[in-house]
Amino acid sequence: MLIVGNGKLITRDPANPYLVDGAVVIEGELIKEVGTLADMKAKYPNAEFVDAQGGVIMPGLINAHTHIYSGLARGLSIAGKNSRNFIEVLEDTWWNIDRHLTMDGTKACAYPTVLDSIRNGVTTIVDHHASFGEIPGTLFTIKDVCQEIGIRANLCYEVSERDGEVKTAESIQENAEFARWAAAQNDDMISAMFGGHALFTISNKTFEKMVAENNGLTGFHIHVAEGLNDVYDSLNHHMCYPIERLERIGGILGPKTMLGHCIHLTDSELDTIAATGTMCVNNPESNMGNAVGCSPVLKMFEKGIHVCMGTDAYTHDMLESLKVFLVIQRHNAGKPNVAWGEGTTMLFQNNAKMMAKYCKKPLGIIAPGAAADICVMDYKPFTPFSDENIDGHMIFGMMGRSNRTTIINGKVIYKDREFVNIDEDAINAWTLEQSKKLWGELNNRVY
Ligand SMILES: [Zn+2]
Repeated sequence: MLIVGNGKLITRDPANPYLVDGAVVIEGELIKEVGTLADMKAKYPNAEFVDAQGGVIMPGLINAHTHIYSGLARGLSIAGKNSRNFIEVLEDTWWNIDRHLTMDGTKACAYPTVLDSIRNGVTTIVDHHASFGEIPGTLFTIKDVCQEIGIRANLCYEVSERDGEVKTAESIQENAEFARWAAAQNDDMISAMFGGHALFTISNKTFEKMVAENNGLTGFHIHVAEGLNDVYDSLNHHMCYPIERLERIGGILGPKTMLGHCIHLTDSELDTIAATGTMCVNNPESNMGNAVGCSPVLKMFEKGIHVCMGTDAYTHDMLESLKVFLVIQRHNAGKPNVAWGEGTTMLFQNNAKMMAKYCKKPLGIIAPGAAADICVMDYKPFTPFSDENIDGHMIFGMMGRSNRTTIINGKVIYKDREFVNIDEDAINAWTLEQSKKLWGELNNRVY
């Protein structure tokens, strides 16, 4: 049994939102009780104590859309590439990298993504993977890394026809095998969606195969209308808009499916997303970085669409994403009084509701019976602080690196800014060797 205490406790539980000197009692994988530190210590005198050192104890963060395949890209420049638009960004960088990823390359991408997420207080990642250099078994390799380190994950593989029929078939197979494996495990730590890259690299025939292979087992996770090219492709080749195309194919839209980006959609497409209960996931920094536009998230909220927040692996810091969401939406709307509630709803409520479709235990809340996923932020307020204004303190006063301790599924994975029973230096040394191999192939030189 563990007690996490000596901090301000923000629970995100409307029944008991804030305790000035709060404590969380953890037994096994679950939160057992929430109370004042004095009460909990008196009631459970033998529990191990995790000292929050006066910081803010809160539910672990969920990243609803990321890409492990980009894990070795930090600091990389590919010679001769100066991508002028979104398609060139994909061709020059991401597809170029993923064509060179072997199984070891994928594994080496997974470690820094998982470790950096945990360092930033992220306890669940929803990943959308591609490694066209080697496909069969990659989701199982990623799953092994997630289990070894101890992060909660929902995984899928990006089906795409960009590298020919054999790779297309392998990517469908990888999703299907992994989704069936995950369903049989019945384990809240690892779940699966059925991935697809984007409409413009998937034919109707392949979509139909994906639907048949999935056979209703799980939801789909697909990029939609991230760039205008995706819209033009649907109009030119299918005489309809992207969401109309997915609707016509059938078996894809629905409450367990999550569509990435959704920047260039018509009102009628948004209505279809709302009517089918399909989820969207917004990635504000990535969208700005790729100069693809601003997703109409405020309109999505007006229409009652379930919008989540991800990073697209631009960062693993969800609080940075929250800040950028606020400024891009305000800048885009030309209004300084919008997007506050939407951003925090996406990150703290909608991401948890999305994972509730894939996990039995509640996430994103500190309450008895919820999964014991908790982070502790180093933060000492100098103005009034409570559950009433936590979002303001968070947006303007905290960042992912404020996180000092991360607990996932009842296990202390990262404590006082050190990984527990994980040899980070040894992992980094191995990852560095793999990144040298990858970079060497991409740039035809020795690192
Ligand atoms: Zn993405």
